[in-house]
Amino acid sequence: MAKRYVGIDLGGTNLKLGLVSADGEMMESLSVPTEAQGGPDHVLARMADGVRQLAKKAGIKVDDIAAVGVGVPGPLDSAAGLVYIAPNLPGWVNVPVRDTLQKALGKTVVVENDANAAAYGEFRVGAGRNVSSMFILTLGTGVGGGIIQDGRLLRGASDTGAELGHTIIQYGGRLCGCGNRGCLEAYASATAVVARFREQAAVSDLSRQPDLECKDVFDAADDGNKAAARIVAETAEYLAVGITSIIHALNPELVVLTGGMMGAGDVFLDAIRRHVGALAFPSAWKVCDVRWSTLGGDAGILGAALAAEAFDRTGQRA
Ligand SMILES: [Zn+2]
Repeated sequence: MAKRYVGIDLGGTNLKLGLVSADGEMMESLSVPTEAQGGPDHVLARMADGVRQLAKKAGIKVDDIAAVGVGVPGPLDSAAGLVYIAPNLPGWVNVPVRDTLQKALGKTVVVENDANAAAYGEFRVGAGRNVSSMFILTLGTGVGGGIIQDGRLLRGASDTGAELGHTIIQYGGRLCGCGNRGCLEAYASATAVVARFREQAAVSDLSRQPDLECKDVFDAADDGNKAAARIVAETAEYLAVGITSIIHALNPELVVLTGGMMGAGDVFLDAIRRHVGALAFPSAWKVCDVRWSTLGGDAGILGAALAAEAFDRTGQRA
């Protein structure tokens, strides 16, 4: 029987699981509430139970699963599968995800940062499947990053590489959730787009909407709202400044953008391309492109499963 893997995307609200073939096809999927308020032991038990439910749904046994990959939102020791901290999950400090799940399921488990998992998914079966070097920016509540260099995840000396959202694009600039000022995340996350719009268009009806989302700002720009259009145009420039700095460090073949801003479409992407083209060294930009993710919300699940597949096949981390 062909080998099958499980990928788990651990979010603050939902646990998303997928049964994935060795060549990255999603064969079955499942989403269950994380119940994060129950603490790490409760969430880990729900993850193990989710794997059992997923196997049942697919009509296979847990024993038929070759290995399990988990993407977690936070810094971790990926070699030990230990999550140092997950800011959106109460009580998650030094949680031994790998060892706990291995014991509960009797399966090999690998643990990756969620943005790294998304990068690996896009590299193996998504927008980056024809390149060997790329990076991803996940534009959501924050800005996550993942880097593929020569076909492998770039982790750095202490697993803290690829924190691309904290590339500083403005010295002394806007305060970031990390405590520094001027990070890309403080300008170009979905949250930051809304905050910047509220500041610049403080008197408009739209900016007073309590539940205003990034998408609303982009939609308003499309409908001719000048303040919103300015924010969108500036967001493309901020992203381009950050992307250009990262291109100059890595000289990649591809930049993949994903997350809540994907709905912004090709006009937004073209604006980013134009600005990067004006800023980047021509020798770097001529071999590179900026594209939307092709896996969307499945990138993290597929990437986690394929990281487990890579470990199962090679004995090494992805
Ligand atoms: Zn930061």
